[in-house]
Amino acid sequence: MSAFSWISFFAFGPAGVHSSAIRRSPAAGRCSGRRRAGPSYSADMSECASLHIKGRVLAGPEDVRDELWVVDGRITYERPHRPSGAAEPTVLTGWVLPGLVDAHCHVGLDAHGPVDDSTSEKQALTDREAGALLLRDAGSPSDTRWIDHRDDLPRIIRAGRHIARTRRYIRNYAHEIEPGDLTAYVRREARRGDGWVKIVGDWIDREEGDLSACWPRWAVEEAIAAAHEEGARVTAHCFAEDSLQDLVEAGIDCIEHATGLTEETIPLFAERGVAIVPTLVNIATFPGLAAGGEAKFPRWAAHMRELHARRYDTVRAAWEAGIPVFTGTDAGGSLAHGLVGQEVGELVKAGIPVRDALSAATWGARAWLGRPALAEGDPADLVVLEADPRVDVRVLEAPSRVVLRGRIVH
Ligand SMILES: [Zn+2]
Repeated sequence: MSAFSWISFFAFGPAGVHSSAIRRSPAAGRCSGRRRAGPSYSADMSECASLHIKGRVLAGPEDVRDELWVVDGRITYERPHRPSGAAEPTVLTGWVLPGLVDAHCHVGLDAHGPVDDSTSEKQALTDREAGALLLRDAGSPSDTRWIDHRDDLPRIIRAGRHIARTRRYIRNYAHEIEPGDLTAYVRREARRGDGWVKIVGDWIDREEGDLSACWPRWAVEEAIAAAHEEGARVTAHCFAEDSLQDLVEAGIDCIEHATGLTEETIPLFAERGVAIVPTLVNIATFPGLAAGGEAKFPRWAAHMRELHARRYDTVRAAWEAGIPVFTGTDAGGSLAHGLVGQEVGELVKAGIPVRDALSAATWGARAWLGRPALAEGDPADLVVLEADPRVDVRVLEAPSRVVLRGRIVH
């Protein structure tokens, strides 16, 4: 499905009927109690609330409500009519945010390559426990499509499998190809994914002994245009400085990590609205990587240390320039899943105001990915927190309750 068809799928439902138009059904007054698979509706939709959440519902950065109800897996702010004899809804209390977004993680992958389905399931469950209910999978060699049929697992937006230059990425992860084949592979992964394609924009060049761009300009221009024709957005792994300008001028939609942003490239990103997912919890591993590669690749090691040392300044400068910034953890390579709360804390440490750091993991990220949040009729994917995250974002690291598709799962 293309990015656009995903948006219309969620906005209007598969039958093309707008959710708010059918929320009140002719069968109001009785509870069907039946579970329906997927976001479909039928005329006998019951009005019995399964959940009533009280406290402070942070429906948007400026939109705070006192309570919400969950009816048939969907959010409503109108008190539902309770037929006599119907069960009382379960009551939860706290600060409510939309299900958190990990916009850069990998399900079906570990440090060595693809993993089996039970390991993928554990990864998805770990994300769920942490309240990460919408994942943008930034490249996986495993087929995790089966997760879409599991109501109890987070929703995933896939970018297919990574596409890298030959011997220029972690072994067993990517399609490793040469520039002449880039467009064909990008088209193929665009069709396999959920509206995104992931390429590796730079990596260590062992002959040069340093990070360097992987693709000539003509190859990325042609490939990005092809992805857009297929209705997919393109993102690239970039640690270095020298890969960024060509990718942005070729029309890329997002850059992962983006540690190499400089005074020259920041205005370019801002002007074109190219988003970044800094993955600061992953950038924290740079000094360790540098120490490991020091003996063989001293220039690369020094470069990685320098990128690490300026990481907060880089992210803050990007945000100040108006570049959209979103949370991602890079879980699933060597990092554990479930760190999205920590990543919000890292954005705050970098100097991004709390409200924008929260948005990077919630309202803003969901809008960017074309997915619903906490509006009337939206699927009830949310987290309940013990304290106000606007006061201290560390509360995000351990949600007291997690609700997915209207069910309490944690
Ligand atoms: Zn990654």
